[in-house]
Amino acid sequence: MLLSIPITLIAAALGGYAISRQALSPVDAMTSEAAAIGIGNLSRRLVVPRTGDELERLASTWNHMLDRLESAVKQLTQFTADASHELRTPVALIRTTAELALRRPRTAEDYREALRQIVEESERTSRLVDDLLTLARADAGRALLSTEPLDLTLLVRDVCEQGMILGAARRVEVHTETPLTPVTVQGNPPALRRLLFILLDNAIKYTSEGGKVTVSLRGENPAVLSVADTGIGIPPDALPHVFERFFRADPSRNRDLGGAGLGLAIARWIAERHNATIAAESTPGLGSTFRVTFP
Ligand code: ADP
Repeated sequence: MLLSIPITLIAAALGGYAISRQALSPVDAMTSEAAAIGIGNLSRRLVVPRTGDELERLASTWNHMLDRLESAVKQLTQFTADASHELRTPVALIRTTAELALRRPRTAEDYREALRQIVEESERTSRLVDDLLTLARADAGRALLSTEPLDLTLLVRDVCEQGMILGAARRVEVHTETPLTPVTVQGNPPALRRLLFILLDNAIKYTSEGGKVTVSLRGENPAVLSVADTGIGIPPDALPHVFERFFRADPSRNRDLGGAGLGLAIARWIAERHNATIAAESTPGLGSTFRVTFP
């Protein structure tokens, strides 16, 4: 008894240690594989042991998390690359205009023209920087939108007044159809103004002279705000992408109109923050309708 008990205990302890080491060795391997994955090799994945137990679930959960991280990092890298690309053009234009004006003495009229072009490009650049900042804050989750009960009828009438001035300059008629009673939603007034202004500005921008833009608000549950135009429309293959950042259906035409393809991305973000949905319908050559449905 004196001999066999200690021997049995030692044998049991050694056996237990060997078994647990063997059972945990895949966890050890996974830990070192995971430790070797960083921002530079985010496409690497853990080997999933086909054991049908917790270890297999652990490895595949890690791999799914890596998938999500990889796509988020890809999006951010793409955003930075696109933003730098967009900023390069106006900055180069400002510099070239100034350099050309300074190359030799010119008349006061020539200097005025060069400065006018510089001011125009600078305005475009600061709009772009503002939009980029809004989206960067939205990505960082720092753009908190405080909400309050607000009357959409008043907001729509107010923004449409600005739209009418904008439309008149381009000979596009802007119509407003609002209910007689208030339509109350929980929202952030400046953000909703911006959302409507983006839709209205686009509708006017992409509608030729003599066209018509109709902004209508329907008050029944749910409240629906729509902006319809009789403009150039959006080709069916481009329609699913219009809310993506930096997307333009026709980049060459767009540069003249001053858009960087960020407006609708911001509009979608604002709608999402209000738990609203935004959707677009369009027939090329006949016009487009953008609809925001509030909860
Ligand atoms: P932009 O500032 O370039 O107008 P947006 O994000 O607001 O960018 O719009 C993305 C693209 O969707 C535009 O470049 C344009 O091709 C298309 N688009 C948006 N609104 C309209 C519209 N009302 N009619 C026709 N095309 C539109």
